[in-house]
Amino acid sequence: MKLVEPIIAFQAELQQIRRDLHAHPELCYEEQRTADVVAARLTEWGIPIVRGLGLTGVVGIIKNGSSKRAIGLRADMDALPMQEINHFEHASRHPGKMHACGHDGHTAMLLGAAHHLATHRNFDGTVYLIFQPAEEGGGGARRMMDDGLFTQFPMDAVYGMHNWPGLEMGSFGVVAGPMMASSNEFRVVVKGKGGHAAQPHRSIDPVMVAVQIAQAWQTIISREKNPLDTAVLSITQIHAGSATNVIPDEAVLIGTVRTFTTEVLDLIESRMEEIAASTAAGYRATVDFTFKRNYPPLINHPKETAFAIEAMKAVAGADKVDDNTEPTMGAEDFAYMLQEKPGCYVFIGNGEGDHRAGGHGLGPCQLHNASYDFNDSLLPIGASYWVRLAEMSLPLA
Ligand SMILES: [Zn+2]
Ligand SMILES: [Zn+2]
Repeated sequence: MKLVEPIIAFQAELQQIRRDLHAHPELCYEEQRTADVVAARLTEWGIPIVRGLGLTGVVGIIKNGSSKRAIGLRADMDALPMQEINHFEHASRHPGKMHACGHDGHTAMLLGAAHHLATHRNFDGTVYLIFQPAEEGGGGARRMMDDGLFTQFPMDAVYGMHNWPGLEMGSFGVVAGPMMASSNEFRVVVKGKGGHAAQPHRSIDPVMVAVQIAQAWQTIISREKNPLDTAVLSITQIHAGSATNVIPDEAVLIGTVRTFTTEVLDLIESRMEEIAASTAAGYRATVDFTFKRNYPPLINHPKETAFAIEAMKAVAGADKVDDNTEPTMGAEDFAYMLQEKPGCYVFIGNGEGDHRAGGHGLGPCQLHNASYDFNDSLLPIGASYWVRLAEMSLPLA
């Protein structure tokens, strides 16, 4: 491990920042206090800021030298609407809210890099520090872009990072191309004609139709898309009926579709609708089909990924960088930024959970688990990666 020396000395302060954020989690677009903390630190370190993109977003600007080159480093700031069951000192003080995805750590790591870059200025160009709201379903990345992130702050590339439980502490994982999936949700209402369960011939049973549709949809995955294309179609809710002797008027199917490409998503969405409508028509029922596209697939750009790998190796050593890590069907709104700018998103290992001090809950240290905690040992490692990436991207002449 070759950490950036002065950042090691800064670790205690970063840990204090991280734990303070952990104790005061804020949900999507409510990150007011968090943004205040970020803004106060950046200002204290002499870094100009612009606030208000994406409502609570903060952009820090560190310019050095004369080069026009620029990169963006992005951290997310929001927490989740869930009850923390840890009871160590820095556990959440806000009931029903928790930093269970480690965005407290992401914010602290980027602050660590900001402090170093502003103090040492070992680069030629501009580093934009992007502190983003509402990653957890709110599309804060998209909203900052809609508010002019890339027009107000023109940058050549943008980079993101997420802690990854189960990956060895301080190691890195990344892959060029698709690394995280698109996330989409559907809701289909099958409309039949209710009646007495003993007289099915006088009704149109929407339950049977919904079951036929549910079965048929899986053949889109197994028979219609290319087997080499990855996709998931999960029906997670089926609702119908209220009594044992009543055929209901309606049945509802709800679920999620995940894909690594928009082409495969287009195919699945259109075939789901056609199969639902034609199956229903075959049984004299009708359907209301709604399909909502949330985050797009996260696609790492090859050149920037190769570059990021060099920066990770410079910090963690070649043996701690998996450059062919397994993609995940989870989703991430940094994907929007990678649709407009070249860049790369990486995982940094959060370990197995043994970093948690006494007082943690009984659950595993997994993302979105009530016993999760960010591993503070990562703070100087992640911050060092950001600094090396910036210095290598914007080398002094
Ligand atoms: Zn999350
Ligand atoms: Zn997250």
